[in-house]
Amino acid sequence: MALPKYRISKAKGRSRRANYLRITSANLSECPQCGAKKMPHRACPECGFYKGKKVIFKKEKKTETKKQKQK
Ligand SMILES: [Zn+2]
Repeated sequence: MALPKYRISKAKGRSRRANYLRITSANLSECPQCGAKKMPHRACPECGFYKGKKVIFKKEKKTETKKQKQK
């Protein structure tokens, strides 16, 4: 069985690991509806559109109407 000739120092091993275990930035795509950065193949969190259709309906409108009633 092959044995390493020299002990690899903590710094050497950690620096090697840091190279291939580094966190790469998420692959974001632009929303065609509002231009915001979003995850690919997912509905846009900003406008709730996916494939040109409104998919996510936020509850903000309900809170707005409650505020308007209070006024
Ligand atoms: Zn959008």
